[in-house]
Amino acid sequence: MARPAAFLDRDGTVVEDVHYARNIEQIRLLPGAVQVLSDLRRRGFVLVIVTNQSGIGRGLLTESDFRAQTEHLARLLGPAAAPDATYYCPHHPTEALPPYQVVCRCRKPSPGLIERATAELGLDPARSLAIGDKERDVECARAAGVRACVRMGTESVPTLAAAAALALSELSRE
Ligand SMILES: [Mg+2]
Ligand SMILES: [Zn+2]
Repeated sequence: MARPAAFLDRDGTVVEDVHYARNIEQIRLLPGAVQVLSDLRRRGFVLVIVTNQSGIGRGLLTESDFRAQTEHLARLLGPAAAPDATYYCPHHPTEALPPYQVVCRCRKPSPGLIERATAELGLDPARSLAIGDKERDVECARAAGVRACVRMGTESVPTLAAAAALALSELSRE
């Protein structure tokens, strides 16, 4: 049976948004990340990071740098809160170098990353939630059929914890 997921943007949502982080030292957790992610997992959500990483296509970091960041993030979060999977888009339609300069279906706001995760991991978007700090995160999740899509970092939803609480309350509504 398809499982519910929490689709989480990475930069500005789970970790500080330093533009085009390259080194693992630049990966720093935002307040509440461990608690919120472990709570979501306890509630049965598969934890999936979905992130635009055009810095790869722009030549500012390599796929290998990004993999090291993903492993470092898992260490920082610890076993109870480490993501189950990470999906990223390395492309950009105009600013990236070949072979990354393409109009792809995975760069948010397109829904490709969530669609791929859903198919590969057996997830149920209709029972899932998504949180991001940009409008394109919300657009992407809506387009993929995710039921509760919340933008954080706003006056009314300042933190990841507030966003998770709002998303859970939306999911619990009939
Ligand atoms: Mg972001
Ligand atoms: Zn892409």
